Amino acid sequence: MILAAYVFFGIILYYVFKGKEEEGLYMKEICINCGEEVDKSSLHCPNCNEQLKKECSNCGKIIDISWRSCPFCDSNQLSNQKE
Ligand SMILES: [Zn+2]
Ligand SMILES: [Zn+2]
Repeated sequence: MILAAYVFFGIILYYVFKGKEEEGLYMKEICINCGEEVDKSSLHCPNCNEQLKKECSNCGKIIDISWRSCPFCDSNQLSNQKE
């Protein structure tokens, strides 16, 4: 009886994790400018060339253009904007 329960939960966990894995493979972002689906790792929209990601001015990691601080090194991104 207990063994059957373990097997049952094992199967559920398998499908939960499998589902999450597949979700991660197809993670897309919507371009803020033209609404086109863009790969999450893309720095620019391939359709309109809008910049979607930037490099952190402190650690160089790729972060979202709208983020105010870097989640990797916690540096403020607003004070370093030079365009
Ligand atoms: Zn676009
Ligand atoms: Zn950083």
